[in-house]
Amino acid sequence: MEPPKIWRERRQRYLTLGILCNKCQMKSFPVTDFCPECSSNDIEEIKLAQTGKVLHFTRVTQTADVMMFNTPYIIGLIELDDGTRVTGQITDTKIEDLKYGMKVKTVFRILSKNGEEGLIGYGFKFIPS
Ligand SMILES: [Zn+2]
Repeated sequence: MEPPKIWRERRQRYLTLGILCNKCQMKSFPVTDFCPECSSNDIEEIKLAQTGKVLHFTRVTQTADVMMFNTPYIIGLIELDDGTRVTGQITDTKIEDLKYGMKVKTVFRILSKNGEEGLIGYGFKFIPS
């Protein structure tokens, strides 16, 4: 992954901001220029909750080369405590120990590596809390 791409994706990578639609009140992630539910552009950026619960999860065994260092990994659909739904990796646990509704919190971890001497990309993951 190239530095300009990492810079462009910084708001998604760190899970700090989402959007609130002032028309339908939907909260969503990542930040976009319009509401993914009703297409309104009457939106504002909001700070996202950093804790939530597991709605769904699965094990990923095939992925891009820059993420193979971490494969297999668990990916989950998380509902943050503010109601925003986010997809992200769940780490520091075994899939056998995960349960629907389990509380999680965000952490800052390595997401990608471009080989032994390449760029390391950081971003958010979830861990049981
Ligand atoms: Zn909307």
